[in-house]
Formats: sequence, structure tokens, C-alpha cells
Amino acid sequence: MMDLKNSALFQQQAFINGEFVDATSMETFPVINPFSKEVIAQMANCGASDTKTSIEKAQEALIVWSSFTGTKRGKILRRWFDLQLEHAKDLAKILTIEQGKPFPEALGEIKYGASYVEWFAEEARRAYGDYIPGPQNNRHIIVMKQPVGVVAAITPWNFPSAMITRKVAPALAAGCTVVIKPSELTPLSANALAVLANEAGIPPGVFNIITTKDAPEVGLEMCNNKTVRKLSFTGSTAVGKILLKQSADTVKKVSLELGGNAPFIVFEDADIDKAVAGAMQSKFRNAGQTCICSNRLFVQEGIYDAFVKKFAEASKNQTIGNGLERGVTIGPMIEEKAVASVEMLVADAQEKGAEIVTGGSRYGDGDSLIYSPTILTNVNENMKIFGEEIFGPVAPVYKFKTEEEVIGLANDTDYGLAAYFYGKDHAKIWRVAEKLEYGMIGINAIDIGTAIAPFGGIKESGIGREGSKYGIEEFMEMKYLSWDVSE
Ligand code: ADP
Repeated sequence: MMDLKNSALFQQQAFINGEFVDATSMETFPVINPFSKEVIAQMANCGASDTKTSIEKAQEALIVWSSFTGTKRGKILRRWFDLQLEHAKDLAKILTIEQGKPFPEALGEIKYGASYVEWFAEEARRAYGDYIPGPQNNRHIIVMKQPVGVVAAITPWNFPSAMITRKVAPALAAGCTVVIKPSELTPLSANALAVLANEAGIPPGVFNIITTKDAPEVGLEMCNNKTVRKLSFTGSTAVGKILLKQSADTVKKVSLELGGNAPFIVFEDADIDKAVAGAMQSKFRNAGQTCICSNRLFVQEGIYDAFVKKFAEASKNQTIGNGLERGVTIGPMIEEKAVASVEMLVADAQEKGAEIVTGGSRYGDGDSLIYSPTILTNVNENMKIFGEEIFGPVAPVYKFKTEEEVIGLANDTDYGLAAYFYGKDHAKIWRVAEKLEYGMIGINAIDIGTAIAPFGGIKESGIGREGSKYGIEEFMEMKYLSWDVSE
């Protein structure tokens, strides 16, 4: 079914304390290829007790792992990074088969995910503290950074590999140990990373994976368990809010990377071709299923028609199909529920007057999970599509007149993850960048995800940042020493 160079990367059990094991219940659950709809694996279906065990193992492993110097941890992480690149094609194949994204995109994700491991392998030895001049003579104030402890991480299906490395690399660099619950839809990529973590020399118990289809049960144990000192989650805002509430009783440190409602603004002085290319990438990557995908395109009236024409031409040029086939640029959506949600948003917009320029329906037979790349015009703020995360290949293009108006529209949302705008006037660029209420702003650029910059959102898009020199801070506590050195 899947031709891998290293078939050992394909693992269907949970990974606890350095070993692949069945769930204590011996139950399993299927993983489905969203393109062919075939069952590709039967995974161990872990429950609360398996989760508890792995947290205990992570706590035991913490003693050893946190005692290693940053340099030593960095060297091991570096080996893990090298192995990810060495096995990149196999990892990408596994990813495409369980998730559906085109193979070149999957390969891009593997390299992107690995870049976080490379970055934090280097940062491991730079977890600097501070020396603060004392308030009296003979008083030294020292701030040291220490690992927060056992980390629980819950990750989504849209980036089954990179969302794991983005959390695990800084956690391990800081000296923490982790228990990960990958999405029930894409657990195979997580397990493949575990195989390589083991091979890289990450000690047993430092990196654990709880595969399960019972996410609420496992999530509750992670939140209630006092040993877990940090919860890092990427997923929907709705689930993020549940986890934040559940983490209150044990007062955990929490990082949340949640939904977005990204505006993509094109001003009249923009380079239209560059903006169209950016819109294509930022809207249709992963069939529109990323939290930083453009959700609302705002185009200034003088160039509106020209932009829509070019954008429609480009979006008709996509090759739709099986992500493993050469040349395919748009694959299936993850599951039926996802397609149904996009259909509902498009129907609502149409009822309220939206016009379909291209696309507007499922691709192929009625059963397919592929939704055609779609462009909508004549859209407005009263449509559901304005306020909800589309998470599919549908681009509503709104018309605006003034800078002030578009900033108001762009900020009119509870989300605050990514925003993009295109224009040339530097004074305007500063003004707009300052006023947009978002954690990340692409200016004449959409490729904002990189290990060297802080990824994350404000408002209901989240708490905390991943990547950059700030990313490791999320996994450390500050301890300050006040030392009277007088005789
Ligand atoms: P998406 O909309 O991207 O599927 P979800 O928030 O539903 O986002 O899923 C992201 C991750 O959260 C997945 O690993 C999923 O299994 C997990 N999840 C969903 N519901 C819960 C819950 N109640 N508690 C813990 N984890 C959950």
C-alpha cells in the first residue's frame, strides 16, 4: 500500500517510555486516507490510564533529561533533525497518505518542521538567565531559567508533523519531557517522528505519544494531572477554551495556538501579480486548511475587477487529485464534516447574494472529499463566511474604498492570528501594520512561518509564541535568587 524505504517508520501502537505498545484496553481505531477513503492503519486506542502511565514515565525521565547540559541536549536534537531530513521522503509519504496534502507540500512540511528542531538544538545552550544589580550593596540578584517540567501537547491534523516538532523541540531544548496526543486523524506522522527520536538517542520517557480517538478523555487526564506543568495546544478556538478552563484547577502554564480569520488586503498601489500569487498560496495551500490561510480578501475598488480576473484565472489552473500523483496542487479535505462545513458557508453566502466566479461545488463524484477552488464576489459582513474560519479552498473577495474602512473590517473579528497586506507606500505600510490587531503580519509576503520568528496570535487566536528566541521561554520558569553576600 505504501512503499517506504524504511518501513519501520510506519507504527500503529502508542509510544510510551521508549517502546511501541498497545493500549491497555487492547482497543484500536482506524486511520483513513482521505483521498481513497481506504483504512490505512489500526492504531492503539489509549485512554486515561495509558495517559497517566506515560505522564509518570515522563516525570521519571525528567530527572535524567533535565540534568543534561544544554549542549548535550542540543546534540541529540541535532541528530533528530538530521534523521528527519534523511528520511524526509518517507515521512512526507506517510503524511500525504493520512492527511491528503500534495506530496511536495508534505515534503515542505517535513523540512519546515525539522527546521524547528535545528533551531532549538542551537537554542538549547542559550537559555540565558540574568544578573540584576542589587537594591543594596552586597546583594546579588540572579535570575535562572529552569525547565517547567512535564509538558502535555495536543496537536491537530492539518500539520501532523510540524505542529509536533514546533512544540517538542523547544520543550526538549529547555529540559522538559513531553507527552503528545496527536490528532486521531493523523497519528502516523507522530509515530514516525517517535521512531527517529528513539534512533537519535532521545532517552526513553522523554518523548511519548498517546494515540487515541477519545481526545476529550485523554485531554482531561492531561489537564487534571498535577504532574503535567505545561499544556501546549494547537487546534480550534472552541477546544482551546475547554482546555484552558480544564487547566485552571492545577494552574498550568498554557500555550494556545488557535483559529484565525486572516484578512488579505490589496491596496491600489500594490503589485497585482504579486498579490495574486500571494493569494493563491495563502488561500489554497493545504486546500485552505491552515489557521493562517487568508479567510477574507479585501481588494480596493480601483483594482478589484483586475484582481478578481487574474485570481480566477490562476485558481482555474490548479491540478486537483491524489496528493501522491505528480503535479497535483490541491488534494482532498480531511473528512466529510469539513467539506459539509464549507458547503454550508458557501450556500449561506449565495443565499445572501454572493456570486460564484469559479468553483462552488465538490469536485468529481458526489462522494469525493475534494472541494473545487472557489472564488466568491459580492460578499459582505452579514454572511457567515465573514466571521467564521472557512478552513477550505474558498476565497470571498470583498471590495473596499478607504484605508480606514478596511482596517475596521479587518479588525472586526474575535480572532487575531495572521494578517496580510499588499501596497507600496511606506507611510501607509507603517500605519496599517500598527493598526492591524494580529500577532503576525505579512507585508507583500505570505510566507510568514519560519523557525526564527515568533509564531502566534492575540485575542481569541491564542496565548504564547512558537519558534524564535522567545519560543523556548514558554517551557521554562524563572527563578530569582536574592543573595546577601555580606560577612
Ligand atoms: P480541528 O478543528 O483542527 O480539528 P480540534 O480543536 O477539533 O481542531 O482538534 C485539535 C486537536 O484537539 C486534535 O488532536 C483533537 O483530537 C483534539 N481535541 C478535540 N477535542 C478535544 C478535547 N475535548 N480535549 C482534548 N483534546 C481535544
